[in-house]
Amino acid sequence: MRTIYGKIVGSFFLAIVLSMLVAFLLATAVNERDIRERFANDMMRAAQEFAHLYGKSNIDDAASFLSHTGIARYTFVVYDRNMGQQAAGGPPVPIAQADVWRVLGGAVYSSDFDKRMKPPASFTVGIPFQENGETYALFVHASPAPPIREAQRIQLIQLAVILVIGTLLFAYVSHILVRPIRRLIAATEQVGKGKYDINVPVHSRDEIGTLTRQFNQMTHELNKIEEMRQEFVAAVSHEIQSPLTSIQGFAKALKNEETETWRLAYVNIIEQESARLSQLGRSLMKLASLDAEQHPFHPKRYRVDEQIRRVLSALAPQWEEKELQLDIGLPKTFLTGDEDLLEQVWTNLLTNAIRYTLRQGIIHIRLVACDSNIICTIKDYGPGIAKEEQTHIFERFYKVDKSRSAGGNGLGLAIVKKIVLLHHGDVKVESELGSGSSFHVVLPSGE
Ligand code: ADP
Repeated sequence: MRTIYGKIVGSFFLAIVLSMLVAFLLATAVNERDIRERFANDMMRAAQEFAHLYGKSNIDDAASFLSHTGIARYTFVVYDRNMGQQAAGGPPVPIAQADVWRVLGGAVYSSDFDKRMKPPASFTVGIPFQENGETYALFVHASPAPPIREAQRIQLIQLAVILVIGTLLFAYVSHILVRPIRRLIAATEQVGKGKYDINVPVHSRDEIGTLTRQFNQMTHELNKIEEMRQEFVAAVSHEIQSPLTSIQGFAKALKNEETETWRLAYVNIIEQESARLSQLGRSLMKLASLDAEQHPFHPKRYRVDEQIRRVLSALAPQWEEKELQLDIGLPKTFLTGDEDLLEQVWTNLLTNAIRYTLRQGIIHIRLVACDSNIICTIKDYGPGIAKEEQTHIFERFYKVDKSRSAGGNGLGLAIVKKIVLLHHGDVKVESELGSGSSFHVVLPSGE
């Protein structure tokens, strides 16, 4: 009985056998008493009838008359005062002399019924009667007491039918009930082997139906995670592979290059590509620690306007090199948040704005406090981002235009989004192809 099916059917079988046994014993006890009483009354009536007929004919005629009334299974024995004995309907049954005397003395005799639970093998009643001034003792004997056995047999047949039909029906119903569980077991085996694109059919709205639906939901999520994992591994491999190939190629070229100018150019490229690799490593580590929620998070109240100014100063070589103009509107603004993490947000957004703005272009940086939030907007007049791309730019490794985002690895905005969400804020982009982009960061000021 190691299967659920075996357990259900086994317990049903046990329960039905036990209840049938109890029902049988109870019914037998109640039934038997009724039947015995009815039986004793019948015999008494037969005895009285016989006594009545006995005066009018002889004993055999009386017995055979009664046989036509359907009481023929009885044996009749008549005793007179001299213990003279006459029998009809069967061989005489031995009766204790003391009982015969008692009946001759006017008592009524009856086998003891009630004390014995088992159906009696035989049953006898005795009555006195007068005929022609003489007293006789008449004993009527039945062997065995058939109605009781019959009732028991009927009961047993009924119970056996209930048991067989009940067990068959229950086995069938259990099979239907257990079938979805078996399907789930087979599906979990598949999941255990790493196959997640499984959908177990749901046919019911009961608990098993709910379990199956939730299982399907779980495998669906696992499948999505697995796909994301595969995409992630492919993206990481690609991001590592391309700078490495470039480093390898330029290192080889460096070995064979004699001209100093070219050698310097190759070294510069190798340096840039290794910086890109190391940036990728840092970004991946940052995302991994943010994902695992292990990244130290130390919120404190500080001047965010000063922080953005500091980031702009740090990026000065890049915007100065492109001769960009900065339009800064950074009033004194306090914010409660993790200073280190938010510095990364401004760095990534401003780096992108600088990267995608054409030479001698302009970038607007605005900070406003609004209700309990601060909103920082960074606006550039770069190439802009198409509507359909805007929903994807915050995804990991997403690059709008591979050639355009040279130097980037597509992780910058994913990190921005993660950090902003960690602060219960939001980041949105407003952009149109060819007109530039505005990034709005909304953060609760924590006042
Ligand atoms: P990357 O570091 O490669 O720039 P990001 O995650 O920062 O990656 O950005 C994702 C993509 O969004 C980039 O490939 C780029 O094409 C686009 N993007 C981000 N910022 C801007 C912007 N200011 N103007 C135009 N495109 C942008």
